[in-house]
Amino acid sequence: MTEIDDLLKGLEVCPDLRARVEHVLNLLPTEVREDFLHDPGFTIALDNYVPGQGSTVFMAMPGPTGDSSRSIVLKPLLADCNKDFAWYVIAHEFAHAFLRNGAWGEIADPEDAANALGAHWGFPRPKETPWSRFRRR
Ligand SMILES: [Zn+2]
Repeated sequence: MTEIDDLLKGLEVCPDLRARVEHVLNLLPTEVREDFLHDPGFTIALDNYVPGQGSTVFMAMPGPTGDSSRSIVLKPLLADCNKDFAWYVIAHEFAHAFLRNGAWGEIADPEDAANALGAHWGFPRPKETPWSRFRRR
């Protein structure tokens, strides 16, 4: 089992989502990917599916500072929505984790910072976003 398999274990029940996350992970800068792979406190989990509540894809980072754990939780719907949008959301969550939900350089707002870093990695927010279906937080 590779380190990536190990990191993505929690997504095995949702192979389509696992593939999307692996795609993003593989395109991250090496030092970012290595940082995640070698941090035992970093995990990726699938959000529990609740019928009728499957319409949110953005998850807040658990914990106020992310010092001990900076896990991310992804919604199963990310397997089904538009590919570019899913990649953007996944990269955005990786960016939060990498920044420990904080600023990126001059960009103080954690949401703007995560969007900017995600775009820097090659996953900008798509022009067409299903904001009517997905709630951002
Ligand atoms: Zn965010």
